[in-house]
Amino acid sequence: MLKIGSHVSFTKDTQLIGSINESISYNSNCFMIYTGAPQNTNRSDISKDITNKAHLLLKELKIDLNDVIVHAPYIVNLSNYKDERSRDFAISFLKQEIDRCEQLGLSNLVLHPGSHVGLGEEVGLKNTVDALNIILSKDSKVNILIETMSGKGTEIGYKIDHLKYIIDNVKYNDKIKICLDSCHLNDSGYDISNFDSILDEIDSKIGIDKIKCIHINDSKNNISDKKDRHSNIGFGTLGFDNIINIIYNKRLENIPKILETPYVNGYPPYKFEIEMIKNKEFNPELLENIVNYYKNI
Ligand code: FE
Ligand code: FE
Ligand code: ZN
Repeated sequence: MLKIGSHVSFTKDTQLIGSINESISYNSNCFMIYTGAPQNTNRSDISKDITNKAHLLLKELKIDLNDVIVHAPYIVNLSNYKDERSRDFAISFLKQEIDRCEQLGLSNLVLHPGSHVGLGEEVGLKNTVDALNIILSKDSKVNILIETMSGKGTEIGYKIDHLKYIIDNVKYNDKIKICLDSCHLNDSGYDISNFDSILDEIDSKIGIDKIKCIHINDSKNNISDKKDRHSNIGFGTLGFDNIINIIYNKRLENIPKILETPYVNGYPPYKFEIEMIKNKEFNPELLENIVNYYKNI
């Protein structure tokens, strides 16, 4: 079954119920949330009552809890061991985020592996591994999905070999999974038009069963640009056909596909992009259609 959705908001007042309702309005059957603003660490308390109601609603909608993904804030950087204090902060914040996932009954947390900020890739990777070894224990319930990155700035995790290194060196690595991002793969240098060869490499080095989520984005950049700027589906350098081939690839059939494409004039594109993906036919007027639809409701 095709599992397609987008990232949706999670607010203090409506929490998971609000996220579900937003995702339904796009005709999604999976979705991703940040449990607070992605760029800061202000977090409100998780309501038990709303969470229980949300679980009932998900059941009614036949949405699997594994298809509700959480994304950790970008500012958690496990690679840059500048000083004890900043590292302790990153580790304790990620622990809290894992705790919030548990309170929400969700078990897949996407994490950017970090930026080494001048320390070098090797040191950055080792720092991330060390931090994950502090965070994860035998009893950890939440999976950490390491995302494939574009390689902008001093990001690590832009090569499959980086992900392999992390998995090979984390003690409780049954909890480490991976999240692909189509824009990031392209920007970091992987040829999306030959997606099966990327999957082959992942399968031989890591195991394809480690893939638990895929971010579906077109890209504003050329292959290997190391830039990370998302584009609406079919309007970037990846192109509609390549994206359809990723989404409908038989080897990834049951994996949730999450759109993180940009808003169009302040309006969410997801309802329209999802419809276009289900139709498997590119609509060159998509962006105008989005604006017209939301202007009139
Ligand atoms: Fe991400
Ligand atoms: Fe992403
Ligand atoms: Zn990105």
